[in-house]
Amino acid sequence: MKQGCIFCGIIAGAISSSKVYEDDQVVVINDINPKAKVHLLILPKRHIDSVSELRDLDEQLMGHMIFVAKKVADEQNLKGYKLLLNVNKEGGQVVFHIHMHLLGGGPIKLSEC
Ligand code: AMP
Repeated sequence: MKQGCIFCGIIAGAISSSKVYEDDQVVVINDINPKAKVHLLILPKRHIDSVSELRDLDEQLMGHMIFVAKKVADEQNLKGYKLLLNVNKEGGQVVFHIHMHLLGGGPIKLSEC
């Protein structure tokens, strides 16, 4: 857990969120400012700032995030969707705790993601 990290606060339960899935490695929440009918964020419980900071030991976790995205999308009967990771400020990342966007269920405002 990193002090001052909003997603660490959500994972710890100190900041409220709309949680749709949780297991030992990840939490999935609804995005507070959705850019599509369905806009979920897959958050690893372990704090990692960004994809650019990944180490070899994180490979399993990143694969797990994709599998969780598929599971949640199946549960929501999404026929198609986008998975997106913004990397660093130059890549549009605003919250520096790795998160995967899952967008679907209709038109997606990708330019705003
Ligand atoms: P990114 O630009 O990839 O860092 O995306 C950060 C995302 O986090 C944005 O889509 C925000 O709407 C979302 N977000 C920020 N704060 C919260 C929050 N408290 N609960 C849910 N989503 C949030």
